[in-house]
Amino acid sequence: MRLDNSENAWLGYSKNDRKELKELTDSYMEFLSKCKTERECVREIVSLAKKSGYKDLRNIIEDNKRLKHGDKVYLDIMGKAVVLFHLGNEPFENGMNILGAHIDSPRLDLKQNPLYEDGGMAYLNTHYYGGIKKYQYVTIPLALHGVVAKTDGSLVEISIGEADDEPVFTVTDILIHLASEQMEKKVGKAVEGEDLDLLVGSIPIKAKEKDPVKQNILKILKDKYMIDDNDFVSAELEAVPAGKARSLGFDESMVLSYGQDDRVCAYTSLVAFLSTPEVERTGVCLLVDKEEIGSVGATGMRSRLFENALAEVMNAAGAYSDLAMRRALQNSKMLSSDVSASFDPLYASVFDKYNSAYFGHGVVFNKYTGSRGKSGSNDANAEFIAEIRSILDAGNVKYQTCELGKVDAGGGGTIAYIMALYGMDVIDCGVAVLSMHAPYEVTSKADIYEATKAYRAFLLA
Ligand code: MN
Ligand code: MN
Repeated sequence: MRLDNSENAWLGYSKNDRKELKELTDSYMEFLSKCKTERECVREIVSLAKKSGYKDLRNIIEDNKRLKHGDKVYLDIMGKAVVLFHLGNEPFENGMNILGAHIDSPRLDLKQNPLYEDGGMAYLNTHYYGGIKKYQYVTIPLALHGVVAKTDGSLVEISIGEADDEPVFTVTDILIHLASEQMEKKVGKAVEGEDLDLLVGSIPIKAKEKDPVKQNILKILKDKYMIDDNDFVSAELEAVPAGKARSLGFDESMVLSYGQDDRVCAYTSLVAFLSTPEVERTGVCLLVDKEEIGSVGATGMRSRLFENALAEVMNAAGAYSDLAMRRALQNSKMLSSDVSASFDPLYASVFDKYNSAYFGHGVVFNKYTGSRGKSGSNDANAEFIAEIRSILDAGNVKYQTCELGKVDAGGGGTIAYIMALYGMDVIDCGVAVLSMHAPYEVTSKADIYEATKAYRAFLLA
């Protein structure tokens, strides 16, 4: 059911709806608290998939096993992206029902030569990842997550700053008393990217040594993690807001957390996918990396990762040919799920209030995204949208439509246009977010619930 501005999903919920909603959003908040990087997401997703009977596609290939209707497989791509397949009754050539979302989020990445000492303190130099308002990243507790790859082939996992007894890090800001020059600057220049360095220590190792505070940090890193200064070169360490996802508001109707763009769509897609029993058309859940920097790299949507995985699955099912795969791709339908900008009454001037997403009004569909004259958008077909409308109505899913802000206010893109390259029907949809890309983003629990229902209905259609 399409909700207009006067309606609200909360009003229609039964006792049982509210119970289901709470279970879903509690587990979502646990997922967010546990998974702060794309690698941590993949690890958790694979573990949940295995519990639901999914098998590693690599083992199927190695053992020369045959795949058949009903089989469930996953492929982990470099630990940063994952594709799941649930084989349907219909031939691949009829197309698949695909759910897609991204699992990378904006953050501060450590540079390759990050550690330095200045003013008697040790710092880690960073380079921000994705679109951030730099001033939002100062004076908040940050945790460090990631991996250090050693030359002997081992991988050291790092996570510091989440447990209560662990230290955190921060980027300092100049005190207001001395900020007269800073306060005159444009907000985009008030905090510079090169100044987003983490404060990580202040005890010198010994008097008279060069950079004694830095030397002390290196000693701690050696003792605790067996890594040295050179190992940063082959590391991926991400500074992210420390702490857990929380319920927001007196009525606990919202979620406040880091990384909801786009883990809110990734998690809801996954939950819907794993809980779907038999499917007629083969189902796919595609959770990818690097969307925030343009879907680049081997683990981003612009790589051939999905095509390669599909070729293997079709081959293992005895259904592969170049033509059969092209038909499978072209005849597929996809919900490309990513967050939408929720109407913010405090910044109403950047929205068209008649074409905005509102909290509690359900899962959001965007016919197009993009910038200026729809540049860079996918612009879904009317016929496909009509089909989606009837699926949502049949599934009693509450939904709304929106644009990303008013015309010429800005813009953005998703992975939708990349999958459309295969000639399949794709539409952007997802959950509305306030403070998108901020260290702590806000979503509505009702919208999370409706998104999950929408994905489930789509998979069974
Ligand atoms: Mn996104
Ligand atoms: Mn984003």
